[in-house]
Amino acid sequence: MIGRFAPSPTGPLHFGSLLAALASYCDMKSQGGLWRLRMEDLDKPREMAGAAQHILQTLEDFGFEWDGEVIYQSQRSDLYQDTLNQLKAKSLVYDCDCSRKEIADSAQHGIDGLVYPGTCRHKAVVKAPHARRVIVDDQPIAFTDAIQGNIQQNLAHDVGDFVLKRADGLFAYQLAVVVDDVEQGVTDIVRGADLLDSTPRQIYLQQRLGYPLPQYAHIPVASNAAGEKLSKQTLAPAINATRASAWLIQALHFLDQQPPQELTAQSPREILKWATQHWDINLVPQQRSIVF
Ligand SMILES: [Zn+2]
Repeated sequence: MIGRFAPSPTGPLHFGSLLAALASYCDMKSQGGLWRLRMEDLDKPREMAGAAQHILQTLEDFGFEWDGEVIYQSQRSDLYQDTLNQLKAKSLVYDCDCSRKEIADSAQHGIDGLVYPGTCRHKAVVKAPHARRVIVDDQPIAFTDAIQGNIQQNLAHDVGDFVLKRADGLFAYQLAVVVDDVEQGVTDIVRGADLLDSTPRQIYLQQRLGYPLPQYAHIPVASNAAGEKLSKQTLAPAINATRASAWLIQALHFLDQQPPQELTAQSPREILKWATQHWDINLVPQQRSIVF
């Protein structure tokens, strides 16, 4: 069994990412599996210099131990292109030169932004530069999330044909994640519920590529009082190693793991040991977000 933690190096580790690290770590280590790391640094302009190194140092200071080498998405474009070519060979990919405005003028709102209406599916000539989209179908995609329960989505209705490679040449998150998870042998994905709506797109790609389907568990995300997910953009407080034990205890409370009072005086390593031994995914609140 293999789990993973996949932060984006857009800033230092914050409480929201600590939750995902802790939950995926405990879930995997409690079952004797491996826990892998990868940096989701596809979007270089959004990256903060030094953040990747800072995140790794913070994880170490918090007592986390990962298995194998850390992989960096920015170094894996060839792999993503190969996979895009495989989908192209199955006639599942087309070029799209629609501008943002053209899409906004004709599209309906869906589960995660606008539903692309398929304008370019049958266009004979497409201008450069253009994006690449994958053709979706009008079929329900259903899965059982270990925390959030039964989830169902119809990609044609809720999302539309989605982008795999942007017009500026960047590979889309949905494609990169699917390729990396299969390459890293990931069997169990534990991550924030802000990604729950992306999961059917990833399952669709896994199905089309003939990949094994991982198990999913989406933990509630920490949000501010306005309901926005804690992130660098919403000015989430950075967590620091000097208070690592206190942050870990707080994260365990957030995930309803009920750490005993005396654990607060322990080292981060001891807290992680307790958390792994007592991890109970059934206690994690079945909510998409919780105000922190
Ligand atoms: Zn188009």
